[in-house]
Amino acid sequence: MPELPEVETTRRGIEPHIVKQRVAQLIIRDSRLRWPIPEALPGLIKGRVINTVTRRAKYLLLGFSNGTAILHLGMSGSLRIVDRGAEVGKHDHVDMVLGNGSILRLTDPRRFGALLWQAGDKPETHKLLASLGPEPLAEAFDGERLYRLSRGRRAAVKTFIMDNAVVVGVGNIYANEALFAAGIRPDRAAGKIALARYQCLAQEIRRVLAAAIERGGTTLRDFVGGDGKPGYFKQELKVYGRAGRDCTVCRRSLTELRLGQRSSVFCKNCQR
Ligand SMILES: [Zn+2]
Repeated sequence: MPELPEVETTRRGIEPHIVKQRVAQLIIRDSRLRWPIPEALPGLIKGRVINTVTRRAKYLLLGFSNGTAILHLGMSGSLRIVDRGAEVGKHDHVDMVLGNGSILRLTDPRRFGALLWQAGDKPETHKLLASLGPEPLAEAFDGERLYRLSRGRRAAVKTFIMDNAVVVGVGNIYANEALFAAGIRPDRAAGKIALARYQCLAQEIRRVLAAAIERGGTTLRDFVGGDGKPGYFKQELKVYGRAGRDCTVCRRSLTELRLGQRSSVFCKNCQR
């Protein structure tokens, strides 16, 4: 599943090719994504210029003078820039044909993605965006926020930091990695963790996400042409997907447990 670094990498990959371009046509081959693509959308953006390409949490926002197209990649979605005339695959559900002849193509085999519309100039008021917490790399996110919001909460700290109302974009992979780096067990009750440890955790969340975005930068050219899946880069992961293998710090075997149906891998020795 694309996590926040992949979505930010996608944004950086497509932005130079689509910003300030006019939409010649929006072709919808299958509108049945997680929510149906609004029928009026092709008419709303036809002939309009994409003024901005921004991101909020895992949503990509294409800003037009009359509103914002809100894109989500779901479980398996990807965006690519292809030439007009490029062969259309079974899962290429949407083509945004641009004035310069290239196409922004949405491919989504599992169709959990979304393409929605928010009229006006306040995309942040859309119901999917309105209740989101701060961006992890923004100043509004810090250890004090985690400490304050966690008081009295018995939920596992991993579940707590993956709650979009607390902070957005901390998916399963990065939650595992940040907790390992901060030395905190994923199943520790969120309300029992001290401020200093939350300050460390906030710092590690920022560090692992920033490092992943930086690595993603090397894949930016993959967003143009080809028919492969672009932009999802090899990660240097210390715990995620490594259950049973040795801890990179103490060499003891890593443990796996399920929290909220998600795999959590941690070191019993290094994380408390
Ligand atoms: Zn260890």
